[in-house]
Amino acid sequence: MLKTQIMKMSELKRATYATSFAVGVALVWLYVCIFRVSNATTLVVLISAAILTVFSIISTSKLRYALLLFLAAALLVFMFIRQEGSTIFIFSVAARFAVYGLLIAFFGTLLSQATQRMYLDMQRIASEREEALSMSRQWLARLNALLGVISAINTKNHLREIFTESLVEARKVFNADSGLIYSVNRETGKMTVVSSFGYSPEVLKKMEEKGIGNTAYCLACQRMGTVAVDNLATDEKCRNLSKVNTGSCICLPIVSGDNLWGALHLRRRFTDAFTPEGIQLAQAMTYQFALAMQRASLFDQINLLAISDPLTGLFNYRKLSRDLEREFVRSRRYQHRFSFVMADIDHFKKFNDTHGHQAGDAVLRGVAQAMEKGRREVDRVYRYGGEEFSVILPETSLSEARNVAEKIRKSVESLVVKAENGDVSLKVSISMGVASFPLDGDSPEKLIGAADEALYAAKEAGRNRTITHAETKNG
Ligand code: GH3
Ligand code: MG
Ligand code: MG
Repeated sequence: MLKTQIMKMSELKRATYATSFAVGVALVWLYVCIFRVSNATTLVVLISAAILTVFSIISTSKLRYALLLFLAAALLVFMFIRQEGSTIFIFSVAARFAVYGLLIAFFGTLLSQATQRMYLDMQRIASEREEALSMSRQWLARLNALLGVISAINTKNHLREIFTESLVEARKVFNADSGLIYSVNRETGKMTVVSSFGYSPEVLKKMEEKGIGNTAYCLACQRMGTVAVDNLATDEKCRNLSKVNTGSCICLPIVSGDNLWGALHLRRRFTDAFTPEGIQLAQAMTYQFALAMQRASLFDQINLLAISDPLTGLFNYRKLSRDLEREFVRSRRYQHRFSFVMADIDHFKKFNDTHGHQAGDAVLRGVAQAMEKGRREVDRVYRYGGEEFSVILPETSLSEARNVAEKIRKSVESLVVKAENGDVSLKVSISMGVASFPLDGDSPEKLIGAADEALYAAKEAGRNRTITHAETKNG
């Protein structure tokens, strides 16, 4: 582009040189033209020359030759009227003027044409530059949006926050009227809205109720690829959009490898509103979303591992300490009571020694299951460590807790565990100690200590029984 511009400049330069030279020659010729004519005729010649010169420089029209003819004829008539000299002289002056005129008409137009071409070129270049600038601005905006998404992913810990911030970027860069990010339950295919804009809470609630949002009805999820609907009134679209008949939309699955994590949906009021470049950007965004979702899922798995006991699948001591601390804070604030149970398998060492550790492990798993089955929905069972288990019973009095503990104890008592080879059916029992807040302790340590004391008393009293801390004090 720059090269053509330089070419045009040199063309203009050449035209300017040629015209300047021609004007110089014409001026000398003009002097020849007015040689030996009267002052009045000189004035007429000069005025005619000036008119012709101006017209030839500003216009490229062929009319300048007609003007030259007219002016030469007028000069001829003028000189005849004034009887300027012999006929030959008069014709020779007119002829000289005509030669001057031809020179000016030709070269003046040459300059004007070159200037005009140059002007048009400049205009074209300016508009091309404007276009290129607006393209780079668009790319910059897209890049910024993508950086915004990446930065949200790197600085925020919760998916909801990440997606809310990402949708702000998407809304800006796509000028979108509405947008949704769904997360997908990979077992059921249910799509849940994690973040959105342009939808009222009522509409979102209705969507949820109607079950809109299942991968079975989502074309992008089924095809595992981008679906762009340029015209929602006429083009093929998924069932979820059956009631939407204006504008255009894009739907992109959020995928990493073969795993479908969710979907991004953006809509505009106008048809054909999403360009291929825009779709590319949306794809780059969903790629980032997939990484964030994958990371969050790994994070959840690691968190779960950190609070789970691998042998029984119950929550472990770490989770128990946390939950007990929380239960104290909650119960203190709302002045509620709650209870705590410690359970211990009876004669487990002997059991291990007799049947082996693998049979022991099977018993631990069986007891854990029985305790899970025997608890109420609000209660939580933990493996305290070794062959000891704990139960937190929120908003439960000591006597209620005792009843729940007894129920659990009986379900363990009736438990039959098959040894590894399946030949022998094994039976175990547990002893349980129950303590209650605020009656038996006002800190986790004291409450555990109280439940432990009650458990010890249960062991002393012959095992396979439940004793409350209050009962130990009353003897
Ligand atoms: P008591 O009735 O007084 O509670 O007697 P006990 O034998 O159950 O108590 P003790 O504390 O003497 O023994 C606990 C045993 O639990 C010792 C240990 O071998 C066993 N144990 C602890 N953790 C595991 C485990 O993960 N797997 C198996 N198989 N045994 C375990
Ligand atoms: Mg023990
Ligand atoms: Mg024991």
